[in-house]
Amino acid sequence: MRVLKIAVAVLMLAVAGLAQTASEQNLKLDQVIDRVVQQEAAFMDSLRDYRPVVETYIQEMRADKELGMVPQRDEYFLAKADFSQGIREHVFAGAGADTKHHHLAFVSKTFSSPFAMKYVDTGFLQGIIVDTGAFDQSHYQFELLRREFLGDLRCLVFDVTPRKGSGQGRFMGRIWVEDQDYHIVRFSGVRVNAPRFHYYFHFDSWRLSMGPGVWLPAYVYTEENDREYGAFSHAHFKAQTRLWGYDLRSSHRQDELTTVLVESPNAIADHAEQTQDRGPLEALHAWQRLSEDNVVDRMERAGLLAPRGEVEKVLETVVNNILVTNNLDIQPEVRCRVLLTAPLESFTMAHTIVISRGLIDTLPDEASLAMVLAHELGHVVLGHAIDTRWAFSDRMIFSDFEAFSRLDFRRTPAEEQAADQKAVELLQKSPYAGKLNEGGLFLRALSARSKDLPNLVTAHLGNRLALGNQVVRMQTVAQSAPALNLSQPDQIAALPLGARLKLDPWTDRVEMMKSKPAAATSAREKMPFEVTPFSPFLTRRPSSASPASAGATAQATPAAVPTTAPAETESH
Ligand SMILES: [Zn+2]
Repeated sequence: MRVLKIAVAVLMLAVAGLAQTASEQNLKLDQVIDRVVQQEAAFMDSLRDYRPVVETYIQEMRADKELGMVPQRDEYFLAKADFSQGIREHVFAGAGADTKHHHLAFVSKTFSSPFAMKYVDTGFLQGIIVDTGAFDQSHYQFELLRREFLGDLRCLVFDVTPRKGSGQGRFMGRIWVEDQDYHIVRFSGVRVNAPRFHYYFHFDSWRLSMGPGVWLPAYVYTEENDREYGAFSHAHFKAQTRLWGYDLRSSHRQDELTTVLVESPNAIADHAEQTQDRGPLEALHAWQRLSEDNVVDRMERAGLLAPRGEVEKVLETVVNNILVTNNLDIQPEVRCRVLLTAPLESFTMAHTIVISRGLIDTLPDEASLAMVLAHELGHVVLGHAIDTRWAFSDRMIFSDFEAFSRLDFRRTPAEEQAADQKAVELLQKSPYAGKLNEGGLFLRALSARSKDLPNLVTAHLGNRLALGNQVVRMQTVAQSAPALNLSQPDQIAALPLGARLKLDPWTDRVEMMKSKPAAATSAREKMPFEVTPFSPFLTRRPSSASPASAGATAQATPAAVPTTAPAETESH
C-alpha cells in the first residue's frame, strides 16, 4: 500500500514539475510528507558513497561577570567519517554503544585528541542525521507550520515529534524542507528517550547543495546550557562540527586505504621547464621544491590542505609586500597554502608557507596577518630547509589517518627565535611597520585565552603560538602593543572562529567571506577565538563540476552566484 502511495506522489510531482509549478499545492500534505521521507531515505543511501573529513571543536563555557560566558576548556577532534561500511550493519564497539545508534560507528579513527572518542560517544556526529532508520509517518508526527526562506530557497517548515513508543533516540524538533525536491536542508532540535549512559545534545544542522539533487551535511552547531551530565556536573558548552572533503573520493578514493602513489603533477611541470643540466645549487632548489610539492599534494589528497585559489593569492600579496620593500628576490618564489583545520598554526616547508583556517579567521587585520607571515618568511630568508626525505615520493605512501603523525614541520627553539628576530627586521621595512598594534593585541588576547583553550593552540604540524598562558611567538610585537582590554567593545584583538574564511565542503576550496563583519556593540559580542552558531546562505548549486567561484553558492549573496556558469575546470 505504502509503496503505491509514494509512487502516486512521485507521479503527481512529475506532472507538477512539467507544469512548471513544482509546488506542494498539487500534493496533499500527507503526500508531501511521504516525499520528504522518501528523499531522506535516498539521502541516507547516498551517504555511503562519501568519506568526508569531520572536524568538531568544543568549547566549555563558564560565567563571567563582564563578558557573560567565556571559554574555560576545549576539546578537538578530526576524523574521516566512513559511511561506506553500511549504515545499518556497522556498530561502534565502545561503552554504551547501542545497535540503534549506528551513526556513532561512522568515525573510523581520530587523528589526535585522546578525548575524541568520548565526545564521539556522546554523539556530535549524530547531528548530521535526522533519524537512522525510522524517519517516517509511523514513527513521527509532522506538523506543517509555515513557509520560510533560507537563503534563496523557499522552504516548508515542519515541527516533528516522535510518536509514543517509537523507540530510543528519536528526533524531536523542526525541519526545513526545500520545496522543489523535498530535501531536508536544515533541522534543529534534540534526540529524546536516551538509553542509559547516553546524553543527547541540542543541535542545529545544515546541509548544503553540492550539485543538482545532492545535499550533504556541512555544518552542525551544538549548544547546551546547564545540561545535567548524569551524576557528574552541569555542562555549558558550544561546539562546531564541520564536514568537508566530499569530492576527494572522485579521484583519490582508494588512497585512503591502499595508499596508491600518484606522481606530483608539479614534478612534471618542473621537468618541462628544464632545458639543460642544473648546477649544484639549482639542483638542490629543485630537490627541495620536489619535497614541498610531494607534501602539498599528499595533504591536499588527504583533505587537509585547500587547493590553490583566491585566498592563497591574498596571502602571497602580503608576502610580496614584505619581500619587495625589503629588496628580497627569493627563488624559487614563495607560495602560500591554507591548512583546512581550526587550531591556530602556521609553518613553513622550504618556500611554501602554510597557515591554518582558524588562524586566518581570528587575526584582526592585514598587518597582523603580515606579522604571522613575516615569521614564516624569516624561516625562508634564513634558509631553514625542508626535510628533503619528502623528495622521495615513496615516503608519501601512508593512509590519510597517518598524515598528522607522519608529517612534522616543527622547528628547533633556536630556529624559532631566529625567525622571530628576522621577522621583526622584515616588518620594520615593510608597509606594515607602525601598524602592528592589532597584531600585538592578538598575541596578548591569545595569551589571555590560551590556557583555557589548549586544543585551539595545539599545533598539529608546526610550532605552537602559545604554551600555557604564554605566547611563544613574536613576543617583541606583543610587548609593544597597548594594554589588552577584553571588556572594551571597540578593541578587537581577535575575531571568532569562522569570521573570515568560507570552506566549500565539496571542493575544499576556501574563500573570503563576502559579508562585512558586524561591529560588536558590547564586549560580550566580541567572542575572541570562540565558536558561534552557523548561518549559511542556502542556494542550489548549478553543478558539482562548477568553477571555483561556485564555491560561493554555499553562503554568498545570490547576485554572486553564476546561474548559467560555463563548465570550467580548475587550472593553475
Ligand atoms: Zn616558526
